[in-house]
This record gives sequence, structure tokens and C-alpha cells, in this order.
Amino acid sequence: MDVQLAQKKLNLLHTFTTAYGSSESRDNLMVMLSSQGIEAVGQAAPHPRYDEHIENTSEALAKLIPLLQGQDLLAYDGLIRRLLTEVDGAYAAKAALDMAILDWVGKFYNLPIYRLWGISPATMPITSMTIGLDSPEEMRERAQELHNYAELKVKLDGVRDRELISAIREVCQIPVRVDANEGWEDRTVALREIEWLAGMGVTLIEQPLPAAQYDDMVWLKQYSPLPLIADEAFCSNSDIPRLAEAYHGINIKLMKCGGLIVAKDAIVLARLYGLKTMLGCMIESSVGIAAAAQLAPLVDYVDLDGNLLINNDPYDGHPVNQGVIQLNGKPGLGVSPK
Ligand code: MG
Repeated sequence: MDVQLAQKKLNLLHTFTTAYGSSESRDNLMVMLSSQGIEAVGQAAPHPRYDEHIENTSEALAKLIPLLQGQDLLAYDGLIRRLLTEVDGAYAAKAALDMAILDWVGKFYNLPIYRLWGISPATMPITSMTIGLDSPEEMRERAQELHNYAELKVKLDGVRDRELISAIREVCQIPVRVDANEGWEDRTVALREIEWLAGMGVTLIEQPLPAAQYDDMVWLKQYSPLPLIADEAFCSNSDIPRLAEAYHGINIKLMKCGGLIVAKDAIVLARLYGLKTMLGCMIESSVGIAAAAQLAPLVDYVDLDGNLLINNDPYDGHPVNQGVIQLNGKPGLGVSPK
């Protein structure tokens, strides 16, 4: 078995701004795994919000990759779960190995991962397309460009919320999801803004308050007219029972939880606790997006657009048609290098 790493700078089509700051590009790590003549790929998109960077992701991979030698990749469930316990944190690194192993297994059986797991592509929900924070004029223009999507996701920062949403509504009436990225700090301000947004065709709110403000979220959940989705507050499946008191749903990202195996557990657990499920992403190539797309037919909300926000995607994956990801039926993750 041979495993190689390659750093890849993904360039954003538009400067991407959220409540945390702006970026022009994001550094990712590609993992190329080859064994028995089958080549597979995975991807790590470390995010600084979770204290993950190229450096600590590479270090974790350097520890984990030697553990694959001599292992039976077809016994992937136990193998991936063991890798998850071998180093602390480093979820992007773990996700990259999980997807490379599953890509290999799918190619071995000549089946897409969703078929291997008995998931029907017929129940694929629409995916939202993100508009990052910008001037009202720029956000209005972006909304106009994206009229072919069925739902938008708009980043807000708790400062110019009404101005920005009003600008978008001048040109576009499609439903909007709002991601505050922890931008509101006061629960009464958050409730006042959410009530206003509910009247503007907004369908849900992601992470309204800082993740640490748990008690305020329990309060907000009682009064909010819109579903509240935990993103930054949801990092581990052991958080799920507690989050059920404070949110209506969770945003599951492979880069936060460590890959497809854990994400599939999260979907099952969240349902058990009455939570809605969303599948989200970081700024990723089509590799990471194709991995999450395998599970997308199982969730309530899909937000898998990271590959559509960059202009140098090194892989081809699953196309989006009228806001719905079309799983291409190819084995493994279903991606090929460009
Ligand atoms: Mg979010």
C-alpha cells in the first residue's frame, strides 16, 4: 500500500467573508492511497476555527498513515474507528483517511459508497448555495447570478443584517438560509433579528449565538419562529443529547467529525434525539463534497457547495442541476482528476 500527500491551495471565486474574517484561498491536503492496483483519494480541509491547520493536519497524517500498512481495507468500519482513537483532534486528517479508504473499498466492489450502504439517490434534498458577507450591492449581484438555485445560504455578521437581506430581496425571492456564524451575542437581539428574518422568506438560522452560550440557546429555542441549527456548537456525537435541548438540528461536516463513518452515526443519533440533520462543508474540492454527497439523501438539509465556490477544483465530481446534486453512479466517491 502506498499513501502520498499533496498540499493544494484552493482559490476562491469571490473573496469569502464570514463573521470570522475574509479569505482569498484555503489550503487543503489531498491524500492519495493506492493498493492492489486501485487508486483512491481523500481530502483534508482544516479550519482554523477548530484549531486545525496544514501543519497539525500533516503531523496527524504522518502518525496515522503508517498504521494502515498491512491492514485489510475491506474491514473498513473497524479500521477507521481505530484510526479515530489513535490521535486527539485532527478531524480533517481523519476525514481524509476515512474517505480515501471508502473510495478504495467502493472501487474494489465497483459500487458507489451510497450503494454499498443501501442509500437511495432518489431522496436527495436540494443543496443551498452560499453568498459570503459583502457590501449590499455585491450580495444583491451574487443573488441575481444564483437565480437557478432553489435555496441560498447567506452569511450575516449581526451588524448589517437587515440591510443585506433587504438588498438580496430586491432581486430574488427564493428561500434563504441564514448563517450567523456566532455573530449575534445577545439572545434578545438574536430573537428580534430572527423574528424579522422570518418575515423575509428566511427558512432557518445556523449558529445564531457563540457556541459556548448554551443556556442562551436553550432560551432562544423556546421562542424562535425559525429552526436553529448547531454548527460551531456541534463537534462530537457525544454532544448530541445536550444539543437537543438548545437547537432544532445539527450541521454535520466530515471535517468536524472525522469522516463518513462518524457522520453516518451522527445522522442516526440526531434522529433518535429528535434533531433535524444538515450536511455541510468547508471550502473543499469535489473530493470532500463527493464524500459528503454519499450521505446527503439521508438528511433534511444539504449545504454542499464548497467546490462551487472555488475556481481551481482539481477533481470532477457530481454535478448540481437546479440546486440538486446528481450522484453520478461512479464507484467509490465518484470523482476523477481533471
Ligand atoms: Mg455554518
